[in-house]
Amino acid sequence: MTGKTHLSVGISAFMYLSDKLPGKYAFLSLIFAAIGSLFADIDHPKSIINKYLLPFRNNRNKVIFYLTVGIVLLYLDDKYMTSMVVKIAGLSSIMIGLSSHRNGFTHSIFGMLIFTLIVLTFGKTYNFENIYIYFFVGYILHLICDMCTKKGVPLLYPINNKKMKFPLAYSSNSKRGKLTEEIVVLCCIIYCTLKLPTLF
Ligand SMILES: [Zn+2]
Repeated sequence: MTGKTHLSVGISAFMYLSDKLPGKYAFLSLIFAAIGSLFADIDHPKSIINKYLLPFRNNRNKVIFYLTVGIVLLYLDDKYMTSMVVKIAGLSSIMIGLSSHRNGFTHSIFGMLIFTLIVLTFGKTYNFENIYIYFFVGYILHLICDMCTKKGVPLLYPINNKKMKFPLAYSSNSKRGKLTEEIVVLCCIIYCTLKLPTLF
């Protein structure tokens, strides 16, 4: 599934939930819903998130970048901070570096909970209490959307590596798949356009 489709679904979910969940409509919550909807694909060197993080977008650089970030975080934690969340962030970065696309950590319930915990801690530290809710919503919708495609996701990693998908899953590269995603994006744009004026 394309990043554009994930982003459209995540932002639409934010629009739907923003007058129902705590925090109401806030630009920062919107940003975190968008990040959550894209984050799982951080394991792909050419994903939208990596467009902004990696200097050169290929697999070798992805591995080097995330391993380095992870080792630096673990070193800083050991020398200066001693914080559980920095340790978790360091180990998570190493796992991002080591996983290939949709084969492990970031496309699992375990990964989703770990990254939501990191966002929750970040939010609490800087007094943005509700951003983790929107990050979580974006993230879980990403996994659900990827389960609509034939490749599926290893939801129960690391307990079980089996890729899970819905019965009527489509191939992302097929004509049907591309058309389905275009219709989804179009519906999301229409929904957001109609919903936006009601939020203010
Ligand atoms: Zn994905």
